[in-house]
Amino acid sequence: MEENLNLFTSTQDIIKEALEKLGFNDEMYELLKEPLRVLTVRIPIRMDDGTVKVFQGYRSQHNDAVGPTKGGVRFHPEVNEDEVKALSMWMTLKCGIVGLPYGGGKGGIVCDPRTMSMNEIERLSRGYVRAISQIVGPTKDIPAPDVYTNSQIMAWMMDEYSRLRENDSPGFITGKPIVLGGSEGREKATAQGVTICIEEAAKKKGINLNGARVVIQGFGNAGSYLAKFLHDYGAKVIGISDAYGALHDPDGLDIDYLLDRRDSFGTVTTLFENKITNKELLELECDILVPAAISNQITADNAHNIKASIIVEAANGPTTMEATKILNDNGVLLVPDVLASAGGVTVSYFEWVQNNQGYYWSEEEVNDKLRTKLVASFNNVYKTAETRHVNMRLAAYMVGLRNAAEASKFRGWV
Ligand code: GLU
Repeated sequence: MEENLNLFTSTQDIIKEALEKLGFNDEMYELLKEPLRVLTVRIPIRMDDGTVKVFQGYRSQHNDAVGPTKGGVRFHPEVNEDEVKALSMWMTLKCGIVGLPYGGGKGGIVCDPRTMSMNEIERLSRGYVRAISQIVGPTKDIPAPDVYTNSQIMAWMMDEYSRLRENDSPGFITGKPIVLGGSEGREKATAQGVTICIEEAAKKKGINLNGARVVIQGFGNAGSYLAKFLHDYGAKVIGISDAYGALHDPDGLDIDYLLDRRDSFGTVTTLFENKITNKELLELECDILVPAAISNQITADNAHNIKASIIVEAANGPTTMEATKILNDNGVLLVPDVLASAGGVTVSYFEWVQNNQGYYWSEEEVNDKLRTKLVASFNNVYKTAETRHVNMRLAAYMVGLRNAAEASKFRGWV
């Protein structure tokens, strides 16, 4: 039988299982199995050559019982409605795991920013905000960066929203540049969160991070900062990759050199002749494997060949459900995406709090608060897995869904 690579339906399956384990009824599943609202928009943009191109965009809001929905906007040629829906459900889980007063949201635009000029990207970002402005706002739904979007794009989106509302609205979006109300530490937050999860997982497995061999798939925002943190920590980053291939050095790669030479999309491997494939990268002999790129990378096809004893998912959905089971049976400690990649939204929450109060914290303060929340979240999920005899992914879903389900119940929705 073919394994299920559809992120949306495989997420539904595990939501069902988690709600059953938590003792909620079928009506709760009926509520949480789909987003409450999905808006599809068409955005006409005048390109630099004078022609008009119409782009397809989405914004999905999974559940807003706990509070406004929250989640990034990705710009990618392969974004589709099912993916955005699944990603919004995962945001509910991330916010629930960390205990943030938000539900999950997510947006996407089908486009390839690598082939577009800055002016075209700006017009598209502003057009998207105009198209979704009815359903977003600082107390409704708060966007943020995701794949191929960054603080500059957040700035344009914030400016467009503020103009529409005729009000300066920094709390409309997070991941902004510091001068526009961004938070110290937000840029590196996802990688910080992954690092904290790696530290906690290594303690459980009795692995010393100093000298540990690490492989990181992806060299974008999360992957590149993570490589730097772990390298500075004394770990040996022996493999990294980008969309065009992978690099391997058993003695450890020169991360500072790679960071210096990468472009804004995280491309570095084009500089080298001796590359390995992505498949080879994932199967390297190592202690810790961090998929930090795209979904469905570890499947039933390659799960048996994985040598790492810890996998920490920095990307969204890199491991299929079948692969999760195989890895679990092989004794691999898998820290699921909804926990490992929650550092970004956690500092986004801090950014929104600072915008609301108009008083800003130092990077140290932000990092301390992030560490306190993530260490507690990791141990809560780990303990749930132990006491309820479930794997870490199911445990994370159980912890992550509880707030949304209970809040929906208190509101009288179910
Ligand atoms: N896009 C990030 C995520 O998937 C961050 C979301 C946010 O900061 O709201 O977690």
